[in-house]
Parts: sequence; C-alpha cells; structure tokens
Amino acid sequence: MPQQKTIKDQIGLLIRLQVVDGEIYILNREKQDMPGHIKSIEESLENKKTGIKQAEQSLKNVQVKLKEKEISLQQKEENIKKLQNQLYQIKTNKEYAAMLKEIEGLKADNSLIEEEMLRLMDEIEVAKKKIAEEKELFKKEEGAAQKEKDRVDVRAKEIEARSKDLSWQRNEIVPNIDKQLLAKYERVLKNKDGLAIVRIENSACGGCHMNLPPQVVSESKLKEEIVTCGSCNRILYVDDNVEIN
Ligand SMILES: [Zn+2]
Repeated sequence: MPQQKTIKDQIGLLIRLQVVDGEIYILNREKQDMPGHIKSIEESLENKKTGIKQAEQSLKNVQVKLKEKEISLQQKEENIKKLQNQLYQIKTNKEYAAMLKEIEGLKADNSLIEEEMLRLMDEIEVAKKKIAEEKELFKKEEGAAQKEKDRVDVRAKEIEARSKDLSWQRNEIVPNIDKQLLAKYERVLKNKDGLAIVRIENSACGGCHMNLPPQVVSESKLKEEIVTCGSCNRILYVDDNVEIN
C-alpha cells in the first residue's frame, strides 16, 4: 500500500519516475518541433520555386523586348531599301540630299537598335544560365528536403514507440506513489520544464542552482518529510542512502 511507504521509498520512486518523465519531456519537445521544422523546409523550397518563376518571367519579358527590337529593325531596313530605290527617281539635288539624310538617320537608328539587341541577347544568355543553375540547385534541395522529411517520419515513429514504452513504465511506477505527493510532483513537472525532483549538489538546488539554507539540506538528509527548493519549488533529495528500487 502506498500509505505504508516511507519518505525514502517515495523519493526513490519519484527519482525513477523522473527518469521516465525526463525522457518523455524531451521526446515530446522533439515531436512538437517537427511540424515547424517540416514547414520551414517546405517554405524554403516554395520560396526558391517562386524565385525561379519570377526569373523565368523576367527572362520572357526581355525576350519579348528583343523580338520587338527585331521587328523595329526589320521595318527600318525595309524603309531604307524603299528609300534607296526611290533615290533613282529623284529629280532635284535638294530632294536627293534630303532623302539621303533620311536614310542616314534610319541607319543611325538601326545601329542603336542593334547595339540594344546585343545587350539584350547578353542579358538573356546570363539569365538563362542563372535559371539553369537555380533549377539544378532546386532539384538538389528538393532531394535533400525529401530525405529530411523521411528522416523525420522515421524519427516520429521511433518516438511514438518509445513513448508507449515509457508510458507503460510510468504506469507501473505511479500507483506506488502517494497521491498527494504525485500531484505535487506532476504540478512542478508541468511548470518546470519536465524536471520536478532534483539532487542537492554542493548545497545548491540541482534544478535552479540557488544555494540552499543549511536547514533545508539537513532536513532533506533526514528524509522524514518531502523538502522542496524555496526558489523553484522542485522536490529535493540528497544522493546518499537513497535506494532506487
Ligand atoms: Zn531550485
């Protein structure tokens, strides 16, 4: 019967329970972090995908611009041809000179267009190369992301199996602990990062590391009652003579 257990026994049981609960706490934390981890992997991939799409769209825009320049160049060249043909039918020197000037103007325009076209072609080439590189990189990252997701899946299953095991261990210990003490322990466990019972180390609390008054240390040594840290409220024990059954 739990009532007949000594404080020493109770502390021994709590220490055993703390080992189990400590692992449960760590595993739960790991499990809780998983969805966020997966989400950040997926977001990173999605951002890269969007980046590639944007780069492809701006490449398309430059290609359209190049096409427009090509058309404009062709039109001006046709105009030049037309004007050159008309040159032979011109009667006056003045008209001839004016038309020559017009032809020269069109030729000058075209050489500017050609320069611009070369610049656009360079731009396209650089953009294409960069997009190809980004796509290659994306493929690698996608593969790595899948691997990581698979790893997390495997780990989640491991945690699930281990949690079942721990829960079974917990159920075995818990009925032997005094109900009130267990309630106190569980309250602290919940509020203090999964650590409810701690060893006194060099007269300090093993949880919050505050120095403990000598009175508290000696009370704890006596094991006649449950002693807690005045600062963090964790249950304290001294290492000597505590039998861990
Ligand atoms: Zn403390």
